[in-house]
Amino acid sequence: MFNRRKFIKASALSAGLLAIDKNSIANVIPHEETKAENFPIVISTWDFGIAANADAWKVLSTGGRALDAVEQGVWVPEADENNQSVGYGGLPDRDGHVTLDACIMDELGNCGAVLALEHIKHPISVARKVMEKTPHVMLAGDGALQFALEQGFKKENLLTPASEKAWKEWLKTAKYAPVMNIENKLYQKAAPQKLPGNQYNHDTIGMLAIDAKGNISGACTTSGMAYKLHGRIGDSPIIGAGLYVDNEVGGATSTGVGEEVVRNVGSFLVVELMRQGYTPEAACKEAVMRIIKKKPETAKNIQVGFLAINKKGEYGAYAIQKGFSYAVCNAEKQDLLIKGKSYY
Ligand code: ASP
Repeated sequence: MFNRRKFIKASALSAGLLAIDKNSIANVIPHEETKAENFPIVISTWDFGIAANADAWKVLSTGGRALDAVEQGVWVPEADENNQSVGYGGLPDRDGHVTLDACIMDELGNCGAVLALEHIKHPISVARKVMEKTPHVMLAGDGALQFALEQGFKKENLLTPASEKAWKEWLKTAKYAPVMNIENKLYQKAAPQKLPGNQYNHDTIGMLAIDAKGNISGACTTSGMAYKLHGRIGDSPIIGAGLYVDNEVGGATSTGVGEEVVRNVGSFLVVELMRQGYTPEAACKEAVMRIIKKKPETAKNIQVGFLAINKKGEYGAYAIQKGFSYAVCNAEKQDLLIKGKSYY
């Protein structure tokens, strides 16, 4: 049976650490790719991946399907009102609407997505319903909401007082200027930046899991860039950009300024590079380099990070800027936050 204490202890020992403290920089260890066959396993972006992985692990450690694991894992940040960049409590667009983007993909190549969905706390589950109950891949805006309501989802107000306050503060200048590396609290602690108006400009949870049968699935969900134009869609719900899974090869997901990821079809690129023999980290690095090469001046001031896993359960990440973290959970390691390598 899964023993959380034992895993935490094991991970602390293997990382050479005295204690695992989620609020301490000490548990951010340098990236090390796993070498052995390594599943079940779940990995996800940013610090909040730790709590999300823990719920995904409940599914994986009891023999469940990777698809269920990633859906249930990302429910955690989607429901967390303190997380202002995913789901409930997400920062709104410039007109005050919380619009959510999400997609999901399974080991059979099935996928579903919702774009600019309002009023539904768990867009990932609506995306799964699009995949399972319709002949389509994507539903957007009012149509996605109508479908969600037909499927029994509850209509809710997702704009929390904290996010409304941040938006009203932002309206005073109304300048769209995404701040990079706000995503990682630990990084902020180590290298504090002056944050205008709000603490979290953007962030996405991208999660990839391999179950005990070796099947891979992924999920990606976000409220996108804070104060975006109403109707703006990022990379996160776009299959091939924010997420891609090929059960023969592996999976990839992205976070950061979505426009640059879409321009380069980032996650598909990462998976195709792994197919050609790149390690997950090398594939993520190549995808980042394409972005930098095409727009070097833009890239200096934005963050984009990719996270990938291959069929053997080897994982890796690479970002434009320092400060990209991801969480890993398998039978040997739990609650492990790893620092992705970066160009700058
Ligand atoms: N990729 C997301 C978007 O562009 C935001 C993020 O991950 O920071 O909407």
